[in-house]
Amino acid sequence: MKYVLVTGGVVSGLGKGVTASSIGVLLKACGLRVTSIKIDPYLNTDAGTMSPFEHGEVFVLDDGGEVDLDLGNYERFLDIKLTRDNNITTGKIYQHVIAKERKGDYLGKTVQVVPHITDAIQEWIERVAAIPVDGEEGPADICVIELGGTIGDIESAPFIEALGQFSYRVGTGNLCLVHVSLVPVLNVVGEQKTKPTQHSVRGLRGLGLIPDILACRSTKALEENVKEKLSQFCHVPLESIFTLYDVPNIWHIPLLLKDQKAHLAISKVLNLAGIVKEPSLEEWTSRAELCDNLHVPVRIAVVGKYTGLSDAYLSILKALLHASVACRKKLVVDWVPACDLEKETEKENPNAYKAAWKLLKGVDGVLVPGGFGDRGVEGKILAAKYARENKIPFLGICLGMQVAVIEFARSVLSLHDANSTEFKPDTKHPCIVFMPEGSRTHMGGTMRLGSRKSIFTVKDSKSAKLYGNKSSVDERHRHRYEVNPDMVELLEKAGLSFAAKDETGKRMEIVELPNHPFFIGAQFHPEYKSRPGKASPLFIGLIAASCGELDTVMNPASVHQHLISNCPKSVFVNGTSKKAPNGMADVRYNNGYCNGLHSR
Ligand code: GLN
Repeated sequence: MKYVLVTGGVVSGLGKGVTASSIGVLLKACGLRVTSIKIDPYLNTDAGTMSPFEHGEVFVLDDGGEVDLDLGNYERFLDIKLTRDNNITTGKIYQHVIAKERKGDYLGKTVQVVPHITDAIQEWIERVAAIPVDGEEGPADICVIELGGTIGDIESAPFIEALGQFSYRVGTGNLCLVHVSLVPVLNVVGEQKTKPTQHSVRGLRGLGLIPDILACRSTKALEENVKEKLSQFCHVPLESIFTLYDVPNIWHIPLLLKDQKAHLAISKVLNLAGIVKEPSLEEWTSRAELCDNLHVPVRIAVVGKYTGLSDAYLSILKALLHASVACRKKLVVDWVPACDLEKETEKENPNAYKAAWKLLKGVDGVLVPGGFGDRGVEGKILAAKYARENKIPFLGICLGMQVAVIEFARSVLSLHDANSTEFKPDTKHPCIVFMPEGSRTHMGGTMRLGSRKSIFTVKDSKSAKLYGNKSSVDERHRHRYEVNPDMVELLEKAGLSFAAKDETGKRMEIVELPNHPFFIGAQFHPEYKSRPGKASPLFIGLIAASCGELDTVMNPASVHQHLISNCPKSVFVNGTSKKAPNGMADVRYNNGYCNGLHSR
């Protein structure tokens, strides 16, 4: 096993995760098997209880792990399936060490950061790096480790110490340290400034880590003399300094690294020269170019709670993007704050109310994502009602499915106080109820989490067709509430169709309105398994229906034809990157490398 360690300096939000994933893509394209570990030095044991407002979305893995959204990047870029242990946090390490201490495993010794915490970190890395994540047997060849945060953070000190020891432990030629840094341009002089990188490399060296490679974020390619200066002051060979300048979409990053021969620099450090093959990245090139040259828009409203921070819905955004590219459409996302659709807002802030409805009424399709807590729920119900009544394509995910059921019960069955017991515990018509096995008092660890089977019960449903007429699908879950089994019959009689159920037949997994062009709700989160070359079927359905092309994608063969991996090279024309009409509305400009602000 060889390791590529990625650290970050100068500022946070440089796109370290995308850089690390892109290095993985490049090495995979050289014929190596790649896995990854993300280290988050915060104290939480996992990301499950962290607010998406503060930290972006919680990503959910097959094994039910609730992890940092960067693991989503690795899964999407490398097409792998990680485990919860691939995300290390300070909380997890301390919990592990303290449990050992309680068991008496330290034989009366004083338990300390060095060596006990640092040993635990190294053992954890070695153990997890060996878990196969690509469906093949045996450990991968390379493990990319990303250290979250910025060099010098107090919280990351034990990890830095552990990684210093680790580099010594694995020996020369087995660990390559890539430091991601920033080379800003000061407007006054217009010169690329190397000092922040010099300082950050000095900091890194002071902590006992010596960088092999510098990946410099900048708006434009680094000038030769700037590279020379960095090489001289940071003691990194010229051919190991790369510029990661702003690009129109993040799929260009692996290509940028390949063009600068990063694979050669890494294989030299890892003694792999002569072993790795020339990377083949045709699929990535096609996709990146195709994405730059899509012009026919498809406009989707995402009606949610955290619309001010697109990272809060990162996987949704990516899944929409994958599906739009598969359907050859340029995705335009309109973020509609659910609260602003509500009657209350009409009184308190009529302008926001008008603006939200204007946005909603201008879209081709509506997506209501998952969520917790009652803020904005009534607005989401109104969005579902609008889509249902006006025959606008609708996809509801988890809470989005639940609000669609509530809306149906209220409007079609005239059960006006129908609700979820999550929001109104004493409702007379609880169409969404607490799942019996969950704990009512504990937030952590009480959810139905991870990959579960959904069995199609309505064979000619749109969802079954989109999934290629499979008898069942495994998708990831994250919920505490479910459709009330006692109300299913009533809802079905009124025209709601439950197209898929869990293995017991009691838990509703997919709901559809057969007499609507496209109205689907899923209790699971299909977005977590969407990949650039393998868009999620339900998202393909939403996008295709929003452009009036649902029939073309509904037979299984054509769904696959729509996948970008089969895209002929000849469809691409050389294009220049276009200016985004508005930063938030165009996802291509909202993914890290495109403006240098976000990391994902
Ligand atoms: N709050 C709802 C539940 O717990 C929906 C969860 C979600 O959307 N992820 O069931």
